[in-house]
Amino acid sequence: MTTVLLVEDDPAISEPLARAFGREGYEVHAHGTGKGALEDLEGADIIVLDLGLPDIDGLDVARQVRAQGLTTPILMLTARSEDTDLVVGLDAGADDYVTKPFRLAELLARVRAQVRRASGEAIEDELVAGDIRVDVAAHRAFVGEEELQLTTREFELLRVLVRGVGQVLSTDDILKEVWGEDPTGTERTLTMHITWLRRKLGDDDENPTLLLADGGGYRLAV
Ligand code: CA
Repeated sequence: MTTVLLVEDDPAISEPLARAFGREGYEVHAHGTGKGALEDLEGADIIVLDLGLPDIDGLDVARQVRAQGLTTPILMLTARSEDTDLVVGLDAGADDYVTKPFRLAELLARVRAQVRRASGEAIEDELVAGDIRVDVAAHRAFVGEEELQLTTREFELLRVLVRGVGQVLSTDDILKEVWGEDPTGTERTLTMHITWLRRKLGDDDENPTLLLADGGGYRLAV
């Protein structure tokens, strides 16, 4: 199981984040101080680290993590959007950052990307199938020049379909990848999401030509 070390002193941010990580199937270790986090580094697969902590600056937490020789990915949460702060953050050992206020979907996508990168899985920055382009890191998807307004699940579903373009992806594999441990991930849920995704892609749900049901699964035909 993926363990997220969440270091954030503002409960208005940390509580919903912890719940979202839980829904992703992650184990969450939440800390409101840098000191508490530094005592709980063992076993963390990713550190989501606020810069402004009440005891030690988040930058110092990152430096101390790296000083211990740990390569655990660090995603910084920063209220400071000035470039210099971000450069300092990356210098201190952060791998990526998200500026507050952030979109939850984007933060989750970045966490996923860092976890995949750290586990040695090939990283997808951008996926393309025909006119469809999925910018995985930025969590945005386009048909031609037009950006699609997708929910998190629709985005993940599209990402999986575009990655496997031309191949039949089984319902089980799609559910596993897009819904993970989430019990709402059922065949019926998938069918509904396929319908919504077809509409957003401009495909005909009655007679689809793009997102096809095929042999117990789905295939993106472009
Ligand atoms: Ca803070």
